[in-house]
Amino acid sequence: MKLAMIGFGQAGGKIVDKFLEYDDRTGSGIVRSAVAVNTAKADLLGLERVPEENRVLIGQTRVKGHGVGADNELGAEIAEEDIDEVQSVIDNIPVHEIDAFLIIAGLGGGTGSGGSPVLAKHLKRIYTEPVYGLGILPSSDEGGIYTLNAARSFQTFVREVDNLLVFDNDAWRKTGESMESGYEEINDEIVKRFGILFGAGEVTGDSEVAESVVDSSEIVNTLASGGVSTVGYAAEQVTRESSGGLLSRFKSDGSDDNMDAANTTNRITSLVRKAALGRLTLPCEIDGAERALLVLSGPPTELNRKGIERGRKWLEEQTGSMEVRGGDYPVSDSSYVASVILLSGVHNVPRIKELQQVAIEAQENIDEIRAESEENLEQLVEDDEDELDPLF
Ligand code: GDP
Repeated sequence: MKLAMIGFGQAGGKIVDKFLEYDDRTGSGIVRSAVAVNTAKADLLGLERVPEENRVLIGQTRVKGHGVGADNELGAEIAEEDIDEVQSVIDNIPVHEIDAFLIIAGLGGGTGSGGSPVLAKHLKRIYTEPVYGLGILPSSDEGGIYTLNAARSFQTFVREVDNLLVFDNDAWRKTGESMESGYEEINDEIVKRFGILFGAGEVTGDSEVAESVVDSSEIVNTLASGGVSTVGYAAEQVTRESSGGLLSRFKSDGSDDNMDAANTTNRITSLVRKAALGRLTLPCEIDGAERALLVLSGPPTELNRKGIERGRKWLEEQTGSMEVRGGDYPVSDSSYVASVILLSGVHNVPRIKELQQVAIEAQENIDEIRAESEENLEQLVEDDEDELDPLF
């Protein structure tokens, strides 16, 4: 499906940049327009692919291009004040050519955390196209203020978008890695998973495969339950020999064909299980997910309807949902078969509850310190017997 991607804040902008690179590399054609919004000038300058005319610096009078320093209330205020500047860039997007908006932001910071729910609300008021969010949760070692920001932004963002797709940095954190190289890898993971998912709806398959190809309306319908979504992924490399190669195809008794078909089916069903039970972008219990979409990507010879049908049925059992869609994403020159599963409307997410708990503690701590601050300062500044007088 074709998206207008808007990266809000540093993480958001970097990830939109990555999606543009992915699009270039794979020809998936999912990014119809790319916009980056920030209060920090340096972050916008650091982007490589977002067109310069689509980089919007907001809040110049308030923060002079220096960012909001993880103050997401300020981020939200600035976004409201300068929404017209963002809109004037969005005015140049051919909205009739897009299937949806996707606002991407790290929820632990200030600009994207505060600004993206404001933008979502604004876009929903103006356009009929769905507005989705891709919210990145901070890793738990980032500290209280980031967790508090994320918990508050999450609550607000999920209400303002048609669906909030979530990626949890914490689930992907590796110890002993620098932040930057860590983010490189994490961002690759984000772009791969969501790239396959959204790219699936962009295939205009030939007649041979067209009927089983995922359509963008299936992605939209899966996301239509609203709420929170997570994405699973698993892949396996396929070699030329095992890809139903030419020799076996021409065998007269067809026995190898049957073997190949059975192997293909088995591989698909196993990839579906691995994707659903492996690491999700937001770890959660899949039981109770309201809707799901299964996408199988790879060379057409490695995809078959039976495998997808079985995978779909298995997902119905696991989620308890009868709304499980499935289809192909044929990529002729790929040497991988990959299974991507979108689980929409998930409810049993311990990580969110944990995030909220830490956020509440951080909030209480901040409130306590603020309440005592005046008294503590007075005690420090005033001499014990009150013998000194200030100058004025
Ligand atoms: P903002 O510019 O004020 O919106 O804040 P940032 O985007 O710099 O950071 C917000 C949060 O996003 C951080 O707390 C991190 O959890 C996360 N983050 C920052 N950069 C990246 C990145 O490149 N990739 C990912 N996955 N997360 C990031």
